[in-house]
Amino acid sequence: MFADITLPIPFDSFTYLVPPDLEARVMRGCRVVVPLGKNKIYTGVVLSTHNNAPQGVEIKAIMEVLDERPVVNEQQFTFWQWIANYYLCPLGDVMKAGLPGAMKPTDEKALKASSRKRKAIKSDLSPSAWAGQLSPLSPAQQKAFDEIEVSFLDKNVTLLHGVTSSGKTEIYIHLIDKCLQQGKQVLYLLPEIALTTQITERLRCIFGDKMGVYHSKFTDGQRLEVYQRQASDQPYQLILGVRSSIFLPFQSLGLVIVDEEHEQSYKQQEPAPRYHARNAAIMLAQMFKAKTLLGTATPSFEVYHWARKKLYGYVQLTQRYRNMQLPTIEVVDTKEAKRKRLMKGAFSPRLIEVMKNALERKEQIILFQNRRGFSSFIECKTCGWVPRCPHCDVTLTLHKKTSTMTCHYCGYTTRIPERCPACEESKFVDIGTGTEKVEEQIAQLFEGATTLRMDLDTATTRAQFERIISDFSTHKADILVGTQMVTKGLDFDRVSVVGILDADTMLNLPDFRSYERTFQTLSQVAGRAGRNNTAGHVILQTRSADSDIIRQITQNDYWQMFCTQMEERQMFKYPPFVRLIYVYLRHKDNELLEHLADDMGTRLRAVFGDRVLGPDSPPVGRIHSLYIRKIMLKIERRASIEKVRQHLLAIQQQMQTMPIAKNLNIYYDVDPL
Ligand SMILES: [Zn+2]
Ligand SMILES: [Zn+2]
Repeated sequence: MFADITLPIPFDSFTYLVPPDLEARVMRGCRVVVPLGKNKIYTGVVLSTHNNAPQGVEIKAIMEVLDERPVVNEQQFTFWQWIANYYLCPLGDVMKAGLPGAMKPTDEKALKASSRKRKAIKSDLSPSAWAGQLSPLSPAQQKAFDEIEVSFLDKNVTLLHGVTSSGKTEIYIHLIDKCLQQGKQVLYLLPEIALTTQITERLRCIFGDKMGVYHSKFTDGQRLEVYQRQASDQPYQLILGVRSSIFLPFQSLGLVIVDEEHEQSYKQQEPAPRYHARNAAIMLAQMFKAKTLLGTATPSFEVYHWARKKLYGYVQLTQRYRNMQLPTIEVVDTKEAKRKRLMKGAFSPRLIEVMKNALERKEQIILFQNRRGFSSFIECKTCGWVPRCPHCDVTLTLHKKTSTMTCHYCGYTTRIPERCPACEESKFVDIGTGTEKVEEQIAQLFEGATTLRMDLDTATTRAQFERIISDFSTHKADILVGTQMVTKGLDFDRVSVVGILDADTMLNLPDFRSYERTFQTLSQVAGRAGRNNTAGHVILQTRSADSDIIRQITQNDYWQMFCTQMEERQMFKYPPFVRLIYVYLRHKDNELLEHLADDMGTRLRAVFGDRVLGPDSPPVGRIHSLYIRKIMLKIERRASIEKVRQHLLAIQQQMQTMPIAKNLNIYYDVDPL
């Protein structure tokens, strides 16, 4: 007997011999341990058993069977295969993402540790001792709730478009409750960073131990426990989790909620599978004939477009909870202030004035700066030399507190040089303003004010992140300065002022989504101002004060922004009007890569014609010492993705059979963000 087995490496499957004494135990969905190559062992999942002996290859035998019954169910197999097909990656990559680390040990030591762990884990399966009361809905929320239910009668997916602080979570809670009462399971997805203690505690109070939480910062053991419980006869009825929880086993899924559906972090960028958890969750729900609710204050264009086209249901919530006022957004023209030499670092006179008033009233302030570090980089004052990463095509970010410079792509870190290696002079200037520099300027401008900083440097762990939130919400600091992280749905009672230090860095990114994203981010950050009874005040600093996009943001005019941008996207053929596929090629030899990328471009054009653009070097053309080329494909929405896949894989195979392309790495990003 033989078995096809998928391993956590970028291949679909391998065939192994099943030793006679294991024949009864090797079943589809069970894990097995197998040798690979000279001395590697892997944990794989059995896809099928058969009697077709592979020809002309040496065949190895399965070493051990780890499970008494399947740990991957049929629904998961279907879902894995859909991810592999749609996102153009081998099944092994999906299996790697789909099972918690502790379930796929790759050496003897880890294997032993994992079997110990399996014995040590005891699930607390005692029935729910208590469950809290539901907090009743407001008339506006009740209306939205009813509309969602009506929409679900004939739509599988519904968009809940509700302004910030409209109380979307309350509506989710009522929907979850109803679904659980019908004996069905609910998956509630949140972006990584938004899954805080605040929301977990709130749901725990209501759903008690019917709820399991699944988070990437959990230990292997904790993740394994949730997985095993989901595969057992007594699974959690509600899973609150981040994007990877779509891979958990479900038995009777009835509802999927994707909160903050516009969030970019739902897209897995690296490594494969480069899936979008929102889109994959919609597919997952459909496999169970379950419903999907997408919630946001600033819908992604794709979702809003499908709602306009009536493919998705649409429910709007325009009233803020307890009739709180939307913040007023005041635009400050920094071009003018700079010309008159009135700027103090990143601060305009108006922002300083508003902040000083707030501090006098003992109110809190959030400052948003979309750049971490002290500044972007240093430059030699004499010759203009700029330090760059030796492995990647980027400048190094300055971190003054530690006197170091870091590559934010590969993590390479080095000390600030004493002298410029190009001209031997020792005078450097800082270019750009990062969060660390803002923190320093606050200390100079606002004497006595206390500051917290939240970015990827200060909040590397979940504990640090939660600590900063808790310190700020108990008013241990007056000012919170941070990157994108400060926008993520946090509720602070005493924040009256939000300062956006530089709206232009986001607007000027060379990306067709930059306006959409700026609108989303700035609306989210503005929504942090004025929570309890007081209307917030947002100061937005920009050099393009009279541009359409800034006006649309200040007037919260999503509709206008959407219409203007969609016209451009239709004209230049961008999503949602077409489907984008990026083909990436990586190699350590730049010249050879150039040649191979041209070759692949030609082959692609022979099939896809003018739907092919490139090859080009992406903005960061080298990462981890590998050069990169990108070929863009714009595929019509109505085209069969399966046919596209077959063409692409055939061309990839032609490329990879050429001897000179031996070390060429080809991969895809479907629906890239
Ligand atoms: Zn120099
Ligand atoms: Zn680097």
